Amino acid sequence: MIAFMRARFPGTPASAVWSDTVARNWMDPAIPFSMANYWKVSTFQQIDLSYFLFPAVVVKDPRKGQADDADARDQLVRAVLNEVNRVSKPDWDLFDRCIIFFAQPTTLFGGGTHFAPNGKLITSAVFDVASGFDQVCQEVGHAFGLQHELGAWYYDNYGNYTNEYGCPYSVMSADADLSFTRAPDPRLPGVAGPSNPQRVIGPYLPTVHLYINQYQAVNPNGTFNHPDSVTYLPVTYEHTPASVRLVARDAAIAAWPSRRTVLVVVPPIIAGGDTHFLELRRRDGLYDGGIGNASIIILAANFFAGNGAVPNPNTIRIRYVDRIDLEGVEGDLDYHSFSGRFVVRVSRTDDDFAAVNLTVAGGNAWQSFSLTLDNPVTNRAPAGSSPWVAATVAPCPLYPKREYSYRVNTFETFQVLRAHSSGYEKPDYSWYLENVLLNSTASPVALDVPCRDASGHEIGSPAVHRVHCTFKIEGGRLEFNTTGAFADITLTVRVVVSESSSEVMQNYYPDRSLFTSVRAENLAIEWDSHYEEDKRRCKKIFVDIDRRFSESRTSPVPIPDPGPRLDDRTVAVLQSLIQSNPAAASAAIDAVAQVAGISRLQVLMQM
Ligand SMILES: [Zn+2]
Repeated sequence: MIAFMRARFPGTPASAVWSDTVARNWMDPAIPFSMANYWKVSTFQQIDLSYFLFPAVVVKDPRKGQADDADARDQLVRAVLNEVNRVSKPDWDLFDRCIIFFAQPTTLFGGGTHFAPNGKLITSAVFDVASGFDQVCQEVGHAFGLQHELGAWYYDNYGNYTNEYGCPYSVMSADADLSFTRAPDPRLPGVAGPSNPQRVIGPYLPTVHLYINQYQAVNPNGTFNHPDSVTYLPVTYEHTPASVRLVARDAAIAAWPSRRTVLVVVPPIIAGGDTHFLELRRRDGLYDGGIGNASIIILAANFFAGNGAVPNPNTIRIRYVDRIDLEGVEGDLDYHSFSGRFVVRVSRTDDDFAAVNLTVAGGNAWQSFSLTLDNPVTNRAPAGSSPWVAATVAPCPLYPKREYSYRVNTFETFQVLRAHSSGYEKPDYSWYLENVLLNSTASPVALDVPCRDASGHEIGSPAVHRVHCTFKIEGGRLEFNTTGAFADITLTVRVVVSESSSEVMQNYYPDRSLFTSVRAENLAIEWDSHYEEDKRRCKKIFVDIDRRFSESRTSPVPIPDPGPRLDDRTVAVLQSLIQSNPAAASAAIDAVAQVAGISRLQVLMQM
């Protein structure tokens, strides 16, 4: 049980001491922003906050001068214990801890042990009227065996080079870190003034403290460590990525006593390496109200400290490593731990950051730096038409040649390609057309590509001709307009994705490239309606012939080499047609092959 004591020095008015009501409210877990509420919600109710409130006492400051060393602190605590003992005569064996409030600026510390008048050792948390609420939370945490987190090394206000107080997301490092000032509440201390230290609210305790403190008073029953609250990844993540859904700290608190996965433990895959911990934090209406960007925070601890045989929670220090910001982030969300040789990939984020889907894999397990292309979007727009021209042709091998008319229609082809990548922090896309790197300031570009031109009404054989592409690039999106009056334009497109962030080791981000080809039909021959009508009739004749022959054919004709002889007249018709109208010849060859029951090649071999 906690002995809750209030003390003032003789020169301090009694009115400066918190009233019994205020003191009890401060220890009432049902009142938001009370001390008991903080520890109840921060620890999933796994902290024993039962207390006894002693009548306020008056003590003379026993310290010499400005001394604030261990001796001075011990003198101060024991002066209060002795005076409470004189006034109330409690059974000190009932108490393991004490919280002492001083009604004038006095001091701030916690976690030390002091002899009660009966000789029992009691752990203390000591604060005063000038102490911030978040700071008092920290001292009470010390009284429950919690330590500061470590972080980056820096020079503190006293010129000491230290890495203590390193986690901005923890009350155990808090000194107004990620804090906010709550509204006054007449039930609680700190009502006066536009700001008041007792209304400075700091962040939650990272749950990793509950995880490693299973042998400590903060978690006497060890009930936090349950598979539905803590996901301990198997070490196979080194080779097989492991996925987990992580729920925000405050959402898990709100759901309690229903459990939510609020802590992911990433065991080391390096001998003697750190164990890492992932927790999702976002702004909430309670103790994380001072957090800006929603982030996954990454902490670490080494369980091999000391002799490494049995983890000793007293020697394990929790370190804040980094965070993965989730809001307003460009590109893909990957975090690479170079010391731990693993990657955390955020594959999905709920709209309100209430949960994220994560995948963790060993640094070498990611084969999934990937690049994909959507199907191209194509739009063909008319660019012009030639005058109608007369031509004497046969639209069908069975018809004589006669005069028809045609014209040449030309087009421009607009296409959009969209590339997607995964695995990159800041993907940078380079686009190539026919191996020419596209530079947005150098549009349009002239390209020599294989395609076909038109000679009269005939489409020529593939040859290299010059086309022009006007293009625009927006990251993974390429749009381009191809001009040039050719048919069957084939353009090779290549896109390369590479890592452009200067904040990552680029060696870990291999480039990926992708080829594809796109086609543009910028030329078409249009025949007059007589031609089209004759062509339709001709086709009908072939279809009818085919139908009659098919009915009498009972089994597939074996394929002889070079197949049944075609009569000379058919060959002559096909030969003539190939000269005058290759497209019609092709259709006729197909029809003859089908009627004769031989392949297209076998027809061609007889010509
Ligand atoms: Zn501290």
